[in-house]
Amino acid sequence: MRILVTGGAGFIGSHTAEALLRAGHEVAMIDDLSTGKRANVPAGAETLITDIASHEARLLVARFRPEALLHLAAKVSVRASIDDPGLDARTNVLGSLALLEACRRAGTAYALFASTGGAMYGTARTFPIAETAPAEPASPYGCAKLAVEGYLGYYRRVHGLRTCVLRYANVYGPRQDPHGEAGVVAIFAQRCRAGEPLHIHGDGSQTRDYVHVDDVVAANLACLGARMEGVFNVGTGQETSVATLAAGLLALSGSRGGVRHGPERAGDVARSCLDAALLSRATGWRPRLGIRDGLASTWAWFRSAP
Ligand code: NAD
Repeated sequence: MRILVTGGAGFIGSHTAEALLRAGHEVAMIDDLSTGKRANVPAGAETLITDIASHEARLLVARFRPEALLHLAAKVSVRASIDDPGLDARTNVLGSLALLEACRRAGTAYALFASTGGAMYGTARTFPIAETAPAEPASPYGCAKLAVEGYLGYYRRVHGLRTCVLRYANVYGPRQDPHGEAGVVAIFAQRCRAGEPLHIHGDGSQTRDYVHVDDVVAANLACLGARMEGVFNVGTGQETSVATLAAGLLALSGSRGGVRHGPERAGDVARSCLDAALLSRATGWRPRLGIRDGLASTWAWFRSAP
């Protein structure tokens, strides 16, 4: 199948593109390298370094005529979206729209969109959080993801595009950028490598649902393979506290940097954890890597990363 992957030089996009190439698909990628890296780009994919909203991107879509779109390119910093909602929306809303229009013109039949579970549901009351919980984003980043989910509904209803929205939990694993604001596992792993202290906001009891990138790639491919349509959470259903993550990585790495606690961060929710039963029932997908094995695989990569 001809598949266009946006954000293919990024963390999740590069792992996904690799898996698609391994499965024998023809892959083209668009990435502006704003957070992605050239070194992440897998061999064998046609790659265009440009903005998803650019004229060059439109030309590539028209020529490549993707049968499926995996749209992962995004500005991923929640904090940056709060500082400058317009800049976030330029890529996350307008860029997505430009891409969807280009794909509509090129006759693309299927689109899978990387949305967010962590930033979608606001302060939930029941856990794990199902897709039926109200979408109440507490950041411009979450609002932009919700807006694109809305546009996908329009393309489905009016233009017959088959659409799949995957709301990922907190994704972690090899290749995640430790210098970004997202990705506490990567940030901790990098600091462990340097023997530096791990900074925790508050007492570390806040929980998140950490899902390994290999499981996210498997979810992407399962949905693509079955042409699954709908909105699905992608998470483990397990809550892990930041303190547990820190202790796990300190133990794995043998770092003596320890932990430093700072003030709680305004706006941080105390708990987050996604119910992915809908996706499991629809595709048979299940997360394979629990947090122990997932952290071990991540640390193994960070230990020897360039
Ligand atoms: P990432 O920053 O590694 O990947 C995003 C990629 O998009 C980067 O390679 C970046 O260069 C590219 N990009 C950004 N703006 C672009 C533009 N205007 N034109 C072309 N390319 C552009 O982040 P990631 O963690 O791999 O995230 C991938 C997707 O998954 C994103 O849509 C993100 O919102 C979503 N997501 C990630 C997580 C997570 O925990 N990592 C959780 C929920 C959702």
